[in-house]
Amino acid sequence: MKLAIMGGTFNPVHIGHLVCAEEAVSHFGLDQVLFMPAGRPAHKEILSGAGPEDRYRMCAIAISGNPGFDVSRYELDRKQVSYTVETVRHFRRQLPQAELCFVTGADAVLEILEWKDPGELLRMATLIAATRPGYPLDRISATLDRFLTENRVKIMEIPGIGVSSTMIRQRVSQRKSIRYLVPEGVRSYIEKEGLYRQE
Ligand code: ATP
Ligand code: MG
Repeated sequence: MKLAIMGGTFNPVHIGHLVCAEEAVSHFGLDQVLFMPAGRPAHKEILSGAGPEDRYRMCAIAISGNPGFDVSRYELDRKQVSYTVETVRHFRRQLPQAELCFVTGADAVLEILEWKDPGELLRMATLIAATRPGYPLDRISATLDRFLTENRVKIMEIPGIGVSSTMIRQRVSQRKSIRYLVPEGVRSYIEKEGLYRQE
């Protein structure tokens, strides 16, 4: 069993997240990508947008129909601040036989050394680092040189998707279309619940 955890605020989930997860499955022969919406992320304040249950439901809508994707409530249901190292430790105890990875985009990779216990995190789980427009690869290699040579970090080139959740929230507040930038079910959820209109 090869499992990858993909953490994020998913405020909201969009095609960049989905393409990234799908590419990880095919590049690394994963059995599953587990989307892990953060409850209270350590390095980011969720000042605006959707509540935790909305972010979770949008992930559930987005992954439905893909048997290789699942979504977890683990970080949402813990009332503490979320740290990836603690989440990975939990899943390692739950699934001692599984090979664990975690997936991030290039922007998150550049911050990883500031996360809690990055050394322990990278010993427990291989990092799959996806390319992302605007975050050049050479900066990743400089940041994670040592872990790249130890094969604890694998760079994954994916089709460039210049979409972010920030962009989606802005577009909704400006009454611009987000069709095709998020799955259709997510688009209608945002519309029905009136999310992001007052950003
Ligand atoms: P925000 O603008 O609110 O920060 P975001 O689009 O960056 O949202 P996050 O929830 O912060 O989304 O990201 C979750 C993970 O997905 C991170 O590791 C991030 O690097 C990655 N990711 C997000 N969008 C893309 C994209 N377009 N291409 C590659 N990776 C992405
Ligand atoms: Mg982000």
